[in-house]
Amino acid sequence: SDGPADMDPAVWEKVKNHPCYSEEAHHYFARMHVAVAPACNIQCNYCNRKYDCSNESRPGVVSEKLTPDQAIRKILAVAQEIPQLSVIGIAGPGDSLAAGAKNTFATFEHLQKKAPDLKLCLSTNGLALPETVERIAQYNIDHVTITINMVDPEVGQHIYPWIFYKHKRWTGLDAAKILHEQQMLGLEMLTARGILVKVNSVMIPGINDAHLLDVNKAVKSRGAFLHNIMPLISDPAHGTHFGLTGQRGPSAQELKVVQDACEGGAKLMRHCRQCRADAVGLLGEDRGEEFTADKVEAMG
Ligand code: SF4
Ligand code: SF4
Repeated sequence: SDGPADMDPAVWEKVKNHPCYSEEAHHYFARMHVAVAPACNIQCNYCNRKYDCSNESRPGVVSEKLTPDQAIRKILAVAQEIPQLSVIGIAGPGDSLAAGAKNTFATFEHLQKKAPDLKLCLSTNGLALPETVERIAQYNIDHVTITINMVDPEVGQHIYPWIFYKHKRWTGLDAAKILHEQQMLGLEMLTARGILVKVNSVMIPGINDAHLLDVNKAVKSRGAFLHNIMPLISDPAHGTHFGLTGQRGPSAQELKVVQDACEGGAKLMRHCRQCRADAVGLLGEDRGEEFTADKVEAMG
């Protein structure tokens, strides 16, 4: 197919087999996340560190953490069983680029040698992007997702209590300002190199809901090709930092109002399932349980 009428044909060529970017491909091509990145370099108020990062994943589930070696074995085993496997992503359970992105790049480096046909992608909060863009380009990672929840540090200070940057912990407005600047710079650097960038935003009622239109404009003007507005999934185990009563997520109607308001801005993705950080299979399914490290080991 020629792809959606409003999508650049060159972009379509790159994303048409990618289950997360193409509405059509998500029925035919499988993706797999490997949870090799345990550390995080920021604190989101909606995060509970016991569970997966909400950059890309449904929070409140625990993924099987793997070493890069275990991840490679698992990927090769899955590729044997699921021939539609086309995309390998690293989305947590922490931030894929935290702690020098050591495990993330070790995994990608091996994969490039052993399975060069697989597309690689990663998701990140963006703080460490500017210093890693060169290596991202080097490993042929052609899709990056950045979670951008604000473009105004005044809003950001209510979402991020702290960040860890240049060997130091930053809080309040300073933290939000640094994170914002790094996110915008990282986005610009990626798109300048022709790397496709999707932006995820977590919609947090009363905190950034009215602000997401500004986020949509800012990321579109910097070349993001998709903007995915996801609902905060509230859970008693989450949101404790928002106050004693916790923070609710948006209703389906509230979410749709914001998504509709952004229509005509950066192209919106509406089929993201917020997969877990170790999801395996077609988009609507998760066969992760069939491929735990133990079972892969037993397959030989
Ligand atoms: Fe949690 Fe992800 Fe935020 Fe890090 S970036 S604090 S892992 S939600
Ligand atoms: Fe795709 Fe969304 Fe699942 Fe990531 S979380 S693999 S973008 S559907």
